[in-house]
Amino acid sequence: MSKQQLAVERARRAFRTGRSKPLEYRIQQLKNLERLFVERKKEIAGALKKDLNKSEHGTPLYETLGLEGEIQLAVRKLKEWAAPRPVSKNLLTLSDEVYIKPEPLGVVLIIGAWNYPWAVTIQPLIGAIAAGNAAVIKPSEVSAHTAKLMEDLLPLYVDKELYPVVTGGVPETQELLKQRFDHVFYTGNCAVGKIVMEAASHHLTPVTLELGGKSPCYIDKNCNLTIACRRIAWGKYTNCGQTCIAPDYILCDPSIQDRVIQEITKSVQEFYTENPKTCPDYGRIINQRHFKRIMAMAEDSTVAMGGDNDEAECYIAPTVLRDVKPEAKVMQEEIFGPLLPILTVDSVDSAIEFINDREKPLALYVFSSDNKLIKRVVDETSSGGFLANDCLVHFSVNDLPFGGVGNSGIGAYHGKFSFDQLSHLRGCLIKQLKMEGVNNMRYPPHTADKLGW
Ligand code: NAD
Repeated sequence: MSKQQLAVERARRAFRTGRSKPLEYRIQQLKNLERLFVERKKEIAGALKKDLNKSEHGTPLYETLGLEGEIQLAVRKLKEWAAPRPVSKNLLTLSDEVYIKPEPLGVVLIIGAWNYPWAVTIQPLIGAIAAGNAAVIKPSEVSAHTAKLMEDLLPLYVDKELYPVVTGGVPETQELLKQRFDHVFYTGNCAVGKIVMEAASHHLTPVTLELGGKSPCYIDKNCNLTIACRRIAWGKYTNCGQTCIAPDYILCDPSIQDRVIQEITKSVQEFYTENPKTCPDYGRIINQRHFKRIMAMAEDSTVAMGGDNDEAECYIAPTVLRDVKPEAKVMQEEIFGPLLPILTVDSVDSAIEFINDREKPLALYVFSSDNKLIKRVVDETSSGGFLANDCLVHFSVNDLPFGGVGNSGIGAYHGKFSFDQLSHLRGCLIKQLKMEGVNNMRYPPHTADKLGW
């Protein structure tokens, strides 16, 4: 039996004991997980520094504080989320019990990505534990130091049979995908998303796919460009652009392009100094394969800011590309790096058309002081999430579902949405063996006399 099979077998056996179900047990496991983030801050930051040159002080902000908040919310709300949900009754069910009972699905497979390796791997785990499931956790091998740390630390805090960590690369993930799960929760790119969905289909296993894509950012002439560009520069260059909801490209009127470049340049200097390479808050590209992929994307476009790079260090400076054409290489796939192309459009109508001509993005950003224009863009486009006048922060609102639509993903999570996503909402109707008279009509013989029509 392979290591992967064994982990799934054990998780299933542990699930069958029923110990993941009592709410007290779920809460205890969640609190243990929260303790991990409090007690192991330094080790977590150390591994992320090695993987992505993340800054020690910035790590909690982007990786663990959100997880602690999700845990606290789940602990506070679990009783309410897990309680039977009564539904309205009709004449035929008036004296019955009619309710929805959320129940655990069983064993969930969680496959994480490398860009925010704790956030995107543990956030689904919080939902899985809260919903009473067992979960096999497969961290991304690409952020290797974090994967190793997760493998070492998780068993010290949570039930290691119910929530095992399985490390390894593509072959190990593929071996896992051959096993039967009750749900597969995958975060990563669209191409692998298809592989995951195909593998899951062999067992008719439902999937959540948290994917990526090109998230557009439209800047209206009518807005405070200084503030808009400051927020965009933050959203784009945090983690070196390796954020699934980073603004991928800017659409704006040609008359403001120069100002946008100036303002982004000012903000980049403010955040990362004149030389981002030596700034502790500026990250690195995860590896040389991605470095080469990103650099090749910039080849046929004009650099308006940045452009410096150093392959040996996987460093690419915050970069803006100007007057980019829709046919340019950088517009053919998700950038997932610190290149920010600007494409000019002559109106909001053209921006909407441009967005609707392409795959539905994971996030859509609009900067404008005109509320009507913002609402128009919401109404006339579709995307996983929508955020006006800021970047990224919708991710942190637990009451909003986070997920894609179309090519950017299937399913959503965060807060109660994670709980529901990883629960079976079982419809329950409980009748008594009384009042048999009301059933007479449904029993044959169906005579005109009895039915009255
Ligand atoms: P990755 O390469 O680490 O892949 C993720 C997981 O898929 C890993 O565990 C890996 O083992 C597995 N995998 C890779 N190739 C496989 C294959 N051929 N067969 C089976 N399993 C395989 O991560 P990535 O895909 O490079 O991550 C970046 C992408 O993830 C971007 O597109 C980004 O937008 C997206 N992302 C989305 C979210 C979200 O919440 N929607 C969050 C983070 C990242």
